[in-house]
Amino acid sequence: MNAGSVLEFRKYLFGFAEKFSSVAISEDVCKKCKICLNSCPSSAITLEPDAFIDQKKCIKCYCCHELCPNGAVELKTSFMGRIILKRMNYKS
Ligand code: SF4
Ligand code: SF4
Repeated sequence: MNAGSVLEFRKYLFGFAEKFSSVAISEDVCKKCKICLNSCPSSAITLEPDAFIDQKKCIKCYCCHELCPNGAVELKTSFMGRIILKRMNYKS
């Protein structure tokens, strides 16, 4: 397998692993600062009355997870996803 094929295969595996990941807002930690709401490219986030992420709209860019100043957006990876990411030496 050449380097290009290995890269393509890793991209495929990463995409596959992403299917087993999701983001969720921890209501107890969220300060309703709206940074995630204003940065979400797919308008998947609702903060009122409760913080909620519409998984059907979410494109898994993880901006909300990266930008939240309070660590309120959890990245959840299922058992299967963790196995794949571990095999790829990727830390989520
Ligand atoms: S960025 Fe974090 S603290 Fe601010 S509204 Fe979003 S989840 Fe809540
Ligand atoms: S991961 Fe991206 S698309 Fe999904 S809710 Fe967060 S900012 Fe929006």
